[in-house]
Parts: sequence; C-alpha cells; structure tokens
Amino acid sequence: MSAGVPRIALRGDLLDFTAAPAWGDTESAAPRYRADHWLLIEQGRIAGVRSDPPDASWEQHDHRGRLVLPGFIDTHVHSPQIDVIASYGSELLDWLTDHTFPAEARHADAEHAQAGAVYFLDALVGHGTTSAVVFPTVHKGSVDALFAAAETRGMRLIAGKVLMDRHAPPELLDDVDSAEREMEELIGRWHGRGRLAYAVTVRFAPTSTPAQLALAGRLCRADPSLYLQTHLAENRAEVRWVHELFPQARSYLDVYAEAGLLHRRSVFAHGIWLDDADRAAIAAAGAQIAHSPSSNLFLGSGLFGWRAAEAAGIRVSLASDVGGGTSLCLLRNMADAYKIQALAGERLTAWKALHAATRGAAEALGLEAEIGSFETGTIADVCVWDVAVGAVARRRAEVARTLHERIFAWMMLGDERNLAAAYIAGRRHVDRPAA
Ligand SMILES: [Zn+2]
Repeated sequence: MSAGVPRIALRGDLLDFTAAPAWGDTESAAPRYRADHWLLIEQGRIAGVRSDPPDASWEQHDHRGRLVLPGFIDTHVHSPQIDVIASYGSELLDWLTDHTFPAEARHADAEHAQAGAVYFLDALVGHGTTSAVVFPTVHKGSVDALFAAAETRGMRLIAGKVLMDRHAPPELLDDVDSAEREMEELIGRWHGRGRLAYAVTVRFAPTSTPAQLALAGRLCRADPSLYLQTHLAENRAEVRWVHELFPQARSYLDVYAEAGLLHRRSVFAHGIWLDDADRAAIAAAGAQIAHSPSSNLFLGSGLFGWRAAEAAGIRVSLASDVGGGTSLCLLRNMADAYKIQALAGERLTAWKALHAATRGAAEALGLEAEIGSFETGTIADVCVWDVAVGAVARRRAEVARTLHERIFAWMMLGDERNLAAAYIAGRRHVDRPAA
C-alpha cells in the first residue's frame, strides 16, 4: 500500500453477477447476493469480500442495510443533451431538428463544452452510473472536454467526435477530410489513455455520406481496439429514410455492415426495427445493442424485442439515451424496460435488467476484467443504494418475501434519490445521509 491511499472496507448487502441469468428466471443462480458483507478496496481495486470485519488498518464505511452494487454502465447517452431532456412533442427526426441540434451547436464554444462536460459527468455519477459510452458533439473541443473531465474523475469513458457531413444544420457539419484529421488527432491523444477509449462515432446513416461511412470503416479496420457507436433502426420514419438514401442496401444494418462498421466493438443504440437476418448478423459479429427503454417510450419509437435479440445470441446492454430518454438513472430505465416487455407479453426479471447494466454491459464492451462485478482485481467502481425511499417503498420492501421480490420493487420504485454513495476507483464521489 502506498502512503495516502486508504484501504477501504464497505459494509452492506453486496449484489453482483457471476453469469448471465436466463430469461424469466427469478430463481436464477447468476446473481451473487452476500447480505451484510465487507467489500475490500485496495489501491482503487476490489481486493476481496469477507463476512467478518477487517482489522483497523482498513477505513470502514458502514452501509449496513443498503445495497452495494457495481456502478452502472450506460452504453448510450448524449452529453450535450442534458439541456433538452424532457422536451415536448416530437418523434425522432423532428426532435433532432427542433431540440437536439440547437443544443449541440452551442458546444462549438469551448467554455460551454467544458462546463457542459463537467456538469454531465457529475450528473451521471449522481445517478449511479460510473462508466459510459457517450456521444458529445461534432466539435473536437467537446470531445477533449469530455475526456479531460472523465480523466479528472478517474472514470471509464468511451466517446468520440460525432461524424455528420450532411442533413444537419451547417454549423454542425464536418467533411471527410476534416473529420479524418480530427479523429486521428483525438485518437492519438485519448485512445487507451488511462480508462479512456475512443469510439468512431457515426451519428446515424442519414447524416453521413457514403464517403464518410467508408472513412469510419477504414479507421475501425486499421485499429480493431477502437469502438464504434451509432444509432440503428430506432424509428420507422428513420428506417424509411435510410432505405431511400441507400436503396442498394438490404437493410439499415446492412449500410453499416457494408461500410465495415459491424464488428465486435460496435455499440448500436436501439435496434428496434430489425429482422431475423439483421439479428443473426449482429450476433455473429459479437456486436451489442444498447437498449434505451425510456427514450423508446418517450419518443414513441417502438417496443424493443429483447427476447428475440437474446434468442439470436445478441449482447444487450442498457442505456439512458438522454436527452431522448427522460432519466440518467438506469433504475428508471429498467422500470421502463420492464413495461416495454410487459406490452410485448414478456417478463423482464430484475436479474436480467441488473445484469445488462453491470456485468453484461462490461462483457459486451470487452471490459469485464475492469468493471461490472466485484471480482477481485477489478476497479472499485461501486454504488451504494437505499433499498427504499419514502413510506410506500419502505412498506413494500418490508413485506417482500423473496430476494427477487425485494430487488424488483427497488428497481421499479427507486431512482437517483436512492443513491447513498458512489465510488470511482475507490474514491468517494457521492455521499448522502441515510434516507
Ligand atoms: Zn441516442
């Protein structure tokens, strides 16, 4: 132990996953629940778990009666869109024009971008999310600001400059040459630095020319350690537009596949309007879908077929998609995910939802050695949650008969007000008094 770095022991009800729970199985053995245990953190990493208190050389944080989970991983969220969260009255394409693009244009200003990045990351952690895959804006400065703010906080962050060279306001457009120069510069500066990684970031097929999509594909092929993030088959009008713009493509996904953007490190937001061939192709590539339930409901985009995706072998993670989504808190998004599955005649267990936001997302990103569980040696990104806030939730928790029932009620009724503490690499970032 180096001087000044405390050894910390967190006491609480520890919950993480050792495997992927099966669909619909409330009795699954995949969750690992250790009531009233101590989570040991040394040098910012998980050093072990024990049932009895460690000696006095450990700084003890007593969260007795609270749930202690790995920090959530939000696999799709837009940092500049905090300002337009909960904007009234549009579907995807109007929403971009009316709300999103004006908010993103303001990030051309470096000071605005820096203040926005700080505000966004603090808000994210304050909602129980310690790692994220993020869209900043088309402006290079917005990417620098976001990575710098994440580095200051020691966060795992994946992001990249948004590519858009058509069908957006002129102040938000780049071109192939400037995009290539700026991406090379940003990748050189940030990719693989500490806990940061670069994602080639195509907004979506309609806002990039075929030449720009080809550039994105070339970059991915040249360096397979780069991520790729984009939107896919979110809304029916969008899907029709893609068919008009790319008449030769078999499907929306095929536009990305042809450009070399369908691979193991691809993160596709939404993926609602897919067919069996698309699902098979995503699964074969090992790519993931970032399911964004609150956004899908808010923008009226559609009901994601989680079970079909899983049956096809696709990795599914969870995302807030703020500002299309209405909460940065993944608990709120899990509650919406449950309701979407209910409308589709399916039942989403708390285990499935929590796994998708922790170990499942980490595995989908290839980061399971770093985040998503309490395995020894992983980085100590940890959130501590009150099981119940308010009289109704407290009553519900008291009468719960099984572990799944108790955790499910927390998932459905909880939000960021339940967050008691958040640790990033063992450093406390949020600390609230008991509810
Ligand atoms: Zn989005």
